[in-house]
Amino acid sequence: MKTSQFDILFEPIKIGPVTAPNRFYQVPHCTGMGHRYPQAEARLRGIKAEGGWGVVSTQEAEIHPTSDLTPANEARIWGEEDIPTLRRVTDAIHEHGSLAAIQLVHNGLHTANRYSRLSPIAPSSCLVDSNDPVQARAMDKTDIADFRRWHKEAALRAKAAGFDVIYVYAGHDMTLLQHFLLKRHNHRTDEYGGTMENRLRLFREVIADTKDAVGDTCAVAVRLAVDELMGDGGLRHDGEGREIIEALAEEPDLWDVNLSDWSNDSQTARFSDEGFQEPYTSFVKLVTTKPVVGVGRYTSPDNMVRVVKSGLLDFIGAARPSIADPFLPEKIRQGRLEDIRECIGCNICVMGDNTNVPMRCTQNPTIGEEWRKGWHPENIPPLEAAQNHLIIGGGPAGLEAARALAQRGAEVTLADARGTWGGRVTLESGLPGLSSWGRVRDWRLWQLRQTAQASLYLESRLSSDDVLDFGIAHVAIATGAEWRIDGVGRHHREPLAFLRQAAIVSPDTLMEKGAGAITANGPVVIFDDDRFYLASVLAELTAKAGHKTIFVTPSPIVSPWSENTLEQVRIQKRLIDLGVEIIASHELADMDGDSLTLACCYSGKRTQIACATLVPVTSRLPVDQLWHDLMGAQSKWADAGIKSVTRIGDCYSPGLIAVACQSGHGYARDAGAKTAPLPLREDFSPK
Ligand code: ADP
Ligand code: SF4
Repeated sequence: MKTSQFDILFEPIKIGPVTAPNRFYQVPHCTGMGHRYPQAEARLRGIKAEGGWGVVSTQEAEIHPTSDLTPANEARIWGEEDIPTLRRVTDAIHEHGSLAAIQLVHNGLHTANRYSRLSPIAPSSCLVDSNDPVQARAMDKTDIADFRRWHKEAALRAKAAGFDVIYVYAGHDMTLLQHFLLKRHNHRTDEYGGTMENRLRLFREVIADTKDAVGDTCAVAVRLAVDELMGDGGLRHDGEGREIIEALAEEPDLWDVNLSDWSNDSQTARFSDEGFQEPYTSFVKLVTTKPVVGVGRYTSPDNMVRVVKSGLLDFIGAARPSIADPFLPEKIRQGRLEDIRECIGCNICVMGDNTNVPMRCTQNPTIGEEWRKGWHPENIPPLEAAQNHLIIGGGPAGLEAARALAQRGAEVTLADARGTWGGRVTLESGLPGLSSWGRVRDWRLWQLRQTAQASLYLESRLSSDDVLDFGIAHVAIATGAEWRIDGVGRHHREPLAFLRQAAIVSPDTLMEKGAGAITANGPVVIFDDDRFYLASVLAELTAKAGHKTIFVTPSPIVSPWSENTLEQVRIQKRLIDLGVEIIASHELADMDGDSLTLACCYSGKRTQIACATLVPVTSRLPVDQLWHDLMGAQSKWADAGIKSVTRIGDCYSPGLIAVACQSGHGYARDAGAKTAPLPLREDFSPK
């Protein structure tokens, strides 16, 4: 067999009593499905195994009703009745020869037990860490014994459900076992508190319990946060984080090490690069002989080889790279490196868990749709009959529609008015910290350039007459959307007549021209009523270009939706560090000359600020004139040979890049179908 520099990634690795077929390890990650969408969950994990991940893990699996994360959709292993559901997952993973891992969890003070209504438990009496008006009670010795028993029983149930690797989890500041380790949560004065040896006691006991219970046939993995990026206020990789691993070095069968909390572990590309955890986790292999898995948004096969060869890790751990491309390992194995759909580090996937719905992904429109729509990430059934499609607009929607249609065997013509492909992703990838977003364009363009099915035309602005002249049977209009400059957004629902248009620079212009679009002398006011990432990135752009920048928003915090992508605190800190003045909870009230009047959203109290340039980041309007023109010319379609005209992506409904990709993908999937099939529903299906 041909050798390759990547062979090292495909070596089998022993983990205690079991053996992983290779070094690709899908670490536990949430899906927003869990026990509420069990068939979707099983199908998703099975596809990861099919794609070559040697170990495939569940998300956290609550072990007992005192760890009830409702309304989140996590895995659940409260009782015997959960075993058949989990068996679906292990069967789906084993079908492809991979190991199935389960991350058992007790969430301690991280959960308010809204559904079970039981008192949360913690090392010491304290408030839970959500905003729920609920306190966790301090565990007495009976509680500690109970907890150990629950964990052991859950491990036995996990074994019965077919799992090969069973986790003891102390990470993300979300788990009882980590709460016991941390001085800030553990104020006990008995043998479970105080010294490091004492705070470690329960963790050590539970690892031993789990090994006793299931260690004959199952590997026992420990997931530990080695640093919390809080300095001396928390675990440090050169402090107690290291001491814990040194103390327990040989006790588990595998160390899965990372950063805590989740926002540190799953940093976005805006705030960290591939491999960002290496400085924190690289010591682990020096203090244990057990295999070590770590993460860091690895998508580059060369980097993976470097990490293994240099002895940093034994397994390449991945959550997000395995979501963006479930077939990443298989593509490396086959030497199809250009086909890897690299994660862009945007955390739209994380949003699913944080909003309690099945995840979506900017790069992979099939994630979360594997079961309910039958979408496979690599395969799409070929068209039953030949079809010709004209796609107008080469942003994420148009590119994905064209790519997927070509994969199905359609003849595709793709045209864009601009001189570059990518639409909004090209514009946005030019902004500070977002360069990896260009991967959305690059992967699709690469695929399109490999096929003879697709003809690509830049600098081709099409009118309705052009479309009629082309006479291509199926037309998809993917002409995108434009930011409004009349102030209409979430807070202001009607146009603001007082806005001085001469002082306005639209977000599109700022993205197109960069900070050079700001020509007036004086402060730039970014007014954010969109409330996700863009306004903050534009503020970063203008502040870095040396403009005094003021960020005004009706929201009480900067970019509130970015809490769902784990970025909010970092975004607000970055603006503060850049000297951006933040005026929260204010609306626009008037504009006169170089002065902008703001009003407090609560009291109405008015304030005037200097404003030479206003950048309103509020909402977008579809660029759909072409669609209207074609609808007005419907009587000419038959003669022109046109059978369908469909809007997709932002032109249909402005939204996330992930939504535009999915819209393009859905258009291609539905091509040729008389009616789009209805998605399956778990609530009406036998479990
Ligand atoms: P989406 O997110 O839905 O893919 P984008 O805004 O990213 O939308 O991309 C829309 C693309 O459509 C842009 O690149 C734009 O240049 C192109 N476009 C808009 N109108 C026309 C037109 N009439 N003919 C060709 N291309 C167009
Ligand atoms: Fe990566 Fe974004 Fe997809 Fe998450 S949503 S896997 S961060 S590309």
